[in-house]
Amino acid sequence: MSDLKKPEIRIGVFICDCGSNIAGYLDMKELVEHAKTLPNVVFVQENLYTCSEGGINEIKTAIPKANLNRVVVASCTPRTHEPLFQSACEEAGLNPYLFEMANIRDQCSWVHQREREKGTERAKGQIAMAVAKAARLRELSRIQLGISHRAVVIGGGVSGMAAAMALGNMGYETDLVEKQDRLGGLLNDHNIVLPANESPAVILNDLKSRLESNPKINIHTKSVVTKTEGYIGNYTVTLNENGAEKSVPAGVIVVAIGARVLKPEGLYGYDGDKVITHSELEALLKQGVPPAKHVVMIQCVGSRCEERTYCSRICCMTAVKNSIILKEADPETQVTILYRDMQMYGVENEDMFRKSKELGVRYATYDPKQPPVVGNGQVRVFHLRMGKEISLPSDLVVLSTPLIAQEDAPDISTMLKVPLNANGFFLEGHVKLKPLDFATDGIFLCGSARFPSNIREAVSQGLGAASRAAIVLSKEALFTSGIVADINPETCCGCLGCVDVCPYGAISYVTDRGVCEVNKVLCKGCGGCAATCPSGSARLDGFSNDQIYAQIEQALAG
Ligand code: SF4
Ligand code: SF4
Repeated sequence: MSDLKKPEIRIGVFICDCGSNIAGYLDMKELVEHAKTLPNVVFVQENLYTCSEGGINEIKTAIPKANLNRVVVASCTPRTHEPLFQSACEEAGLNPYLFEMANIRDQCSWVHQREREKGTERAKGQIAMAVAKAARLRELSRIQLGISHRAVVIGGGVSGMAAAMALGNMGYETDLVEKQDRLGGLLNDHNIVLPANESPAVILNDLKSRLESNPKINIHTKSVVTKTEGYIGNYTVTLNENGAEKSVPAGVIVVAIGARVLKPEGLYGYDGDKVITHSELEALLKQGVPPAKHVVMIQCVGSRCEERTYCSRICCMTAVKNSIILKEADPETQVTILYRDMQMYGVENEDMFRKSKELGVRYATYDPKQPPVVGNGQVRVFHLRMGKEISLPSDLVVLSTPLIAQEDAPDISTMLKVPLNANGFFLEGHVKLKPLDFATDGIFLCGSARFPSNIREAVSQGLGAASRAAIVLSKEALFTSGIVADINPETCCGCLGCVDVCPYGAISYVTDRGVCEVNKVLCKGCGGCAATCPSGSARLDGFSNDQIYAQIEQALAG
């Protein structure tokens, strides 16, 4: 307790009204008066909006004026506002880690809107906890890192090509790595790209010529990434190019390995001849082969089932597109699409759907519990609307199969330490806030590697991933957070408990010393190691035992 009495600890507390979000439900005067009574608090101020320019200026003014060496803001959530308040401290000459927040809005006023007294009491406790911790905060420093202003894009389909092109155009040297002997991925197999009636060859040739003429882009076909080392800004990527190994530096990595079409072996009598997939139909249409007079298409083959629960999103569009092409080539061709639900999102796709009906394409809903039966030149199906079984003549059955994850996705996931979802696609950092980022800094994703996407989506995601990556590449230097773990080598017993829990692979075992060590650049400050370590050797700066115990004491005292 003696350090609390040290005169040099001078805490300023700023209590935010958040308009009426906080002040509408809590007694602000009481909070201010209570904060004045807390140990080491020398300055208290209520603000209408602490995050406004005026509020920030008040913090910056009070620090030198009241000689503050700790700041507490009682307001909203640190998830969105902590960096702003930390910057204000830093600009006023205070180490940004001598700052603490109490979330009296989300965790108090919003929850206790009808309990003014109880809510006010609770907010007092939260402020007291923040002040107790603030008194024990220590200055922390960030590590400055250099950056390699180069990128590696893994996967040369349209998404990867778009990402590489955007990065190259921004002036960043980019290595585009494709395992096949040609760029373009699945687009190579397309016949026509609807709804705009574009030729895949024209789209691909345009992309390829722009890539090849850009001196900043190095194209590696028949190449795979075999190893990656390092961290954001400083990766070393090892490639096997045509059997020869080479290493390239990279500040960022973009994963754009795409997806593959499911081969429906064992489903609906698939034989690649009379029962084929839409990719196989497109190959026939490309060669100009008139496929058949009676065509039945079956949707959701191998998708939305126990094995693959997801809707691949693009197969309905493909089926409708191909039905239109068949009808336009020969209006006498009978085309029937057997579906469960039609997934035709977007105005242009809706138009395409309508057009197919105008051309005479027939649609019938089937129940997955009574799936169509293919055989003897016909398809029998229980027509849900008619309430009876119908029989459709068919000299060609076309199956809509989903896109599935690439076979090498698990290897790339392990190599880059980025996660896959239950269906084997790469999992973004946050579905809404970070759709093109991985949780691991410096690695991005786009296109069907993330989830089945059509060509436009793949291109826009490629451009989006390139923009995200460029935020890193455009910096002169990177700074790690000051909130990182440390391991005391004197007491670490080398049990590897911390290695097992660290989700970022930031801890390694130093064999000759028999202890574990934290790579502070990789550490994200999650605290898993500190909470796990049986010997108390792992600790997290900014969340030390004395700081947390002081908060608990305050909470219990309240
Ligand atoms: Fe089924 Fe259509 Fe979804 Fe494909 S896109 S899984 S066919 S609903
Ligand atoms: Fe890993 Fe989290 Fe410990 Fe950092 S704090 S070393 S990220 S477990």
